[in-house]
Amino acid sequence: MAVAVDIRKAVEDAAAHLYVWALKDIPQDLRDAISEARGRETSVPGRRVLDTIVKNVEIADGNGNLVCQDTGIAVYYCRVGEGFPLHPARIYEALRAGTERATVEHPLRSNTVHTLTRENTGQNVGYRVPIVHWEFVPDWDGLDVKCVPKGSGSENMSFLKMCVPADGVKGIKRFVLDSIVGAGGKPCPPGIVGVGIGGSADYAMHLAKEAIARPVGTRNEDPLVAQLEDELLELLNETGIGPMGLGGDVTALAVHVEHADTHMTLNPVAVNYQCWAARRATAHMSADGTTDFDREA
Ligand code: SF4
Repeated sequence: MAVAVDIRKAVEDAAAHLYVWALKDIPQDLRDAISEARGRETSVPGRRVLDTIVKNVEIADGNGNLVCQDTGIAVYYCRVGEGFPLHPARIYEALRAGTERATVEHPLRSNTVHTLTRENTGQNVGYRVPIVHWEFVPDWDGLDVKCVPKGSGSENMSFLKMCVPADGVKGIKRFVLDSIVGAGGKPCPPGIVGVGIGGSADYAMHLAKEAIARPVGTRNEDPLVAQLEDELLELLNETGIGPMGLGGDVTALAVHVEHADTHMTLNPVAVNYQCWAARRATAHMSADGTTDFDREA
């Protein structure tokens, strides 16, 4: 029993650390992608924006401060081994408590409100917030928790279309392109365009969200899907939207596509944008509560 209590505390501590850490210290792959974008951007306003982003990150590093004022909505991805000694119901409680603690202790801006009354519901927690996605892993006794605080500017630029099968891959490309052109500078580009295809309506959006949580520029294992990622990235960077929508060569740092098989008469496509401040941080926990923090996962 005592061990279970310690594990719950370890998960809470990990969540409290991850939420703040993700907001302050963006991963190296993202830093590299921003710097590479700065190197190839040719438009004057685009270069200015990227210079400002680089300086913003340097100042955040120097002052130990957040890279953006929007602390986002707390989103966690959990991979739970079947042998991990804490039930997911208790893991959820611990993630919620950790989110709350981080918000109070740092302190962080609290963004969560009741969706109808718009009253603030507390310390970045509320009914069904934080949002937790689950994956259960057989023959393993560990826990991976990835924290992805999601800013509203980019989350507001989420789109779903139930294409018909006859629309094919061209229909998928057209919808992604239309979505990003319509979004313009609103989601703080250049960021990661997450695309979910297949499954059902809700699952396609889940996949798009999962796609933005991958390390920047990683490619889908399926060569066909990876090819679609390359083609979409090229198309999006030809739109000329550029950094912050002020015009330029770099509209997206990466396009990540996740897919699922689907019904023969379905062709769902979801787009979830992640801004340049693509924050994420991960904890790997053993069954005894030992935790390794990982900025690159
Ligand atoms: S969209 Fe991203 S960069 Fe823009 S304000 Fe929100 S968190 Fe910050």
